Amino acid sequence: MSMRSDFDVVIIGAGAAGLAAAVGLAAAPLAVLVVEARDRVGGRAETVRLVPGPDAGFPVDLGCGWLHSADVNPLVPMIEGLGFELDRTPAAWQRQSGEQYFSVADQRLFAEAFDAFEARIDAAARTGIDRPAAELFEPGNRWNPLMNAVSSYYNGTEFERVSLLDYTAYRDTEVNYRVREGYGAAIVALGGKVTVQSGCAVQRIDHGRKPIRLSTTKGEIDTRTVIVTVPTPHLAEQRIRFSPALDGKVEAAGHLPLGLADKAFFALSEPGSMAEGSHFFGRTDRAETASFHVRPYGRPFIEAFVGGRNARALETAGEGAISAFALDELRGLMGSDFVKRLTPIAETGWLRDPWALGAYSHALPMHSGARAVLAAPTDDRLFWAGEATHPTVFSTAHGAWASGQRAAEEVLAALRPGSAPA
Ligand SMILES: Cc1cc2nc3c(=O)[nH]c(=O)nc-3n(C[C@H](O)[C@H](O)[C@H](O)COP(=O)(O)OP(=O)(O)OC[C@H]3O[C@@H](n4cnc5c(N)ncnc54)[C@H](O)[C@@H]3O)c2cc1C
Repeated sequence: MSMRSDFDVVIIGAGAAGLAAAVGLAAAPLAVLVVEARDRVGGRAETVRLVPGPDAGFPVDLGCGWLHSADVNPLVPMIEGLGFELDRTPAAWQRQSGEQYFSVADQRLFAEAFDAFEARIDAAARTGIDRPAAELFEPGNRWNPLMNAVSSYYNGTEFERVSLLDYTAYRDTEVNYRVREGYGAAIVALGGKVTVQSGCAVQRIDHGRKPIRLSTTKGEIDTRTVIVTVPTPHLAEQRIRFSPALDGKVEAAGHLPLGLADKAFFALSEPGSMAEGSHFFGRTDRAETASFHVRPYGRPFIEAFVGGRNARALETAGEGAISAFALDELRGLMGSDFVKRLTPIAETGWLRDPWALGAYSHALPMHSGARAVLAAPTDDRLFWAGEATHPTVFSTAHGAWASGQRAAEEVLAALRPGSAPA
C-alpha cells in the first residue's frame, strides 16, 4: 500500500457498520480509508450462490438473512431503492408447521409458557436489577429446554448467559422481511461506492501520538481519527493492540461476547412433496436442536439453523458435524427414506472464521451497561461502531448500520472546524 500520512479517518472493518460509516462520511471533504482484513466486504453479511443441481443456482445468506423490525427498519426503503426484491411473508419460525412434529395443542402451551416467561422478565427488569434471564424460568417447566433452544437462535446462547436488562432493551416489532437476492448482497450494495483496502488487517493502534499510527499487514497508516468496527472478541482478546492500553474497552468487549449461530443447507430432491416455506424444530424436548426452514421461496432446499452450546460443540467437532447433526434430527422426524433425498451443500463456521469468531453479541448478566461503555468515543480520536455498540438493536445488521452512521456523525463533529483539534 502506498504510504500516506494525511488520512482524516481510517475505518477498520468493511461490514455493515464500517460501510455505513464510510457512506456517512462520503460527502465530507475528508480523506477516508476503509481497511478490511478479508478479501471481501460485508463481514457477517454474506450471500453466496449455491448450486445443488446442474441448472439451479440460488442465493442464500450465510450470515444475516432477515430484516428484523422491518416495518421501522430504515434499511428497508434503502434496499428497495436499490432494486432488490423484498419478501414480506411472515417469518417461517412464526408459523410452526406440522401437527405431525409438534401438536397444535403443544404449540399453544409452548407459546403460553414463553409469554409468561417474558412477562416475568419484563417485571423483573422494572426493578432495574440485572440477573441471568434464566432465573425467570419456572423451575421444572417442560418448555424450558425449547425456550433455551430459541434463545440459542436469537441470542446465540442460552438464557443462563443472557443479561435480563440487555434482553429487555432489545427492540423488535416482530415484523420480518427477507431479500430475495440475499440480505448480504444488499448490504454490500448499500456500500457499493465505498473503496475498501481489502486483505489489510490492523494489528496495532498507537494513539498516544499525533497523528495516530496503525500497523497493518500492509504497512503503516497515519490518520487523525479511527472508527473501530471489529467484532467484540477481537477487542476482548486484544488481537488489535492499543497503545496506550484501553482496559475499559477490552473489559466491555469481554462482557459482550458473540453468541454462536450456524446454518447448514441441503438440496432436496422431489421437493414438491414438502410445503413451501414450512418450519419446524428438530426436537421439542431439548435445547440442543435445529430449527428447519423448508423450501424458502419454493427453492429446492432445506436450511437448518443451530445455535448456542450446540453450535459451539458441533463446530468444534469439525466440518460436516452441523450437517450430520441436522440430518440425524431429520431422520428422527421423517425417517431414513426422506433423508436419502437430501444432499448437504454448505455449512457455516462462524466461530472458526478468524475475522468473526462468533455470530452476534449478547451482554453477560450484570453487564448490560457494557454497550454504552464500548460505544463511547475515546479522546475524540477513536470512535466505536459495530452491532455490539447499538443500545437497542444490537446483534442485527440494521443495528450495525445505524452504529456506523452514528460514529460517522461523531467524527464529523470532532473534525468540524472550531471543535477541539483531533
Ligand atoms: C448466522 C448468522 C445469522 C444472522 N442473522 C441475522 C438476521 O437474520 N438479521 C440481522 O439483522 N442480523 C443477523 N445476523 C447478525 C448480522 O449479520 C451482524 O450483526 C452484522 O452483520 C454485523 O456487522 P458489523 O459491521 O458490526 O460486523 P462485521 O460484519 O463482523 O464487520 C466487521 C469487519 O471487521 C473486519 N475485521 C476484523 N478484524 C479486523 C482487523 N484486525 N483489521 C481489519 N478488519 C478487521 C471483519 O473481517 C469484518 O468484515 C446474523 C449473523 C450470523 C453470523
